Amino acid sequence: MNCFEVSTVTCTASTVLFFFQEQPYFWLIIAALIGLSFGSFLNVVIYRLPLMRDKARNASGMNLLLPRSHCPHCEQHIWARDNIPVVGYLRLRGRCRQCQTPISARYPLVELLSGCLCVLCAWLLGPTWQCLLAWLLIWIGIAASFILWDKRAAHVEVS
Ligand SMILES: [Zn+2]
Repeated sequence: MNCFEVSTVTCTASTVLFFFQEQPYFWLIIAALIGLSFGSFLNVVIYRLPLMRDKARNASGMNLLLPRSHCPHCEQHIWARDNIPVVGYLRLRGRCRQCQTPISARYPLVELLSGCLCVLCAWLLGPTWQCLLAWLLIWIGIAASFILWDKRAAHVEVS
């Protein structure tokens, strides 16, 4: 088998799908990892998107990628190993590594919610385009729900 044959056999989408269909538990593990990782990113979206839209509160020009995640109290960057979904929170026992300020339990809960719903969809729909679409809708739904929740809570505080 030459290099061309190797690349055509191992890199086609249908081969990957066939593998996932033959190994459903592997597919569910991949779905959990994707769901947890996107859940972590959703926390960034939920926190930063409303700030990005408010020009007065976003003088530094933050976006969804920059600056790196940091503690809002001591402003120390969060280490990569502390940023592992759910595991990082548990290892730190819910406190900032530097200043020991409590971290909201909502962060791991959003990650778990995303992970569980992605696994549920993966289990019900299998490795299909419909599953990817369902994941996309779940992530949009989670982000929109928590952003609206925060907006409502801020409104209640003001009034
Ligand atoms: Zn801190």
